Amino acid sequence: MGNRAPLLGVSACLLGLPVRYDGSARPSAPVLDLFRHVFRLVPICPERAIGLGVPRGPIQLVETGEGLRLLDVDEPRRDHTAALRAAARRFLVEHPGLCGLVVKARSPSCALSDAAVAGAAGRTAPGLFVQVVRAVRSDLPLVDERGLESQDVLLQFMLRVLERHGGREVPTSGQQGVEGPGSDQGSLHRALLDAVACSEAGIGAAGRERLKTWLETRA
Ligand code: SF4
Repeated sequence: MGNRAPLLGVSACLLGLPVRYDGSARPSAPVLDLFRHVFRLVPICPERAIGLGVPRGPIQLVETGEGLRLLDVDEPRRDHTAALRAAARRFLVEHPGLCGLVVKARSPSCALSDAAVAGAAGRTAPGLFVQVVRAVRSDLPLVDERGLESQDVLLQFMLRVLERHGGREVPTSGQQGVEGPGSDQGSLHRALLDAVACSEAGIGAAGRERLKTWLETRA
């Protein structure tokens, strides 16, 4: 593996890609204005990964005698559970260096915890993709776009991703997602601070100070 910035998986619709069931996207300002300059981003749309088209009929989590299943709303006999689990495992195998994941809230595939469960009034659960991620990589930092609305959550998530990146190799000049010259740890830290300082979806002066302190203690 060459020199690389931390690798972050992102629900594709949060990157502005029109992959939702109705052809829309849900671009996330922290992802596009901040993370894009700090991390290498890899999009994942679990529903597209199992061959569902755009547009497509909605799917939902349903409590059944066999546990939670991911079924078509209009054609409940179409069960996507096994295919989506396999796609999730494939994604993790293909990206062993993943340092974190930003996912879409309320999605039956991507949600952290708040996907509605049909047939169980008021009950929510993680989306199926996230269920697999947690089972396979229980220590992977995860956040959804609603969590990123809090500067504190945003900063903590960034620090956990950077912590996980830890001793991994650092970026070289011109690599996707990272600006700044050189390949030493100091250059990575400068690039991070520059990116955070320039970001419109930034973490504020206090957050920048905490990030700076964190980086300095690891320089
Ligand atoms: S929430 Fe997940 S499955 Fe749904 S469109 Fe976005 S990336 Fe695809």
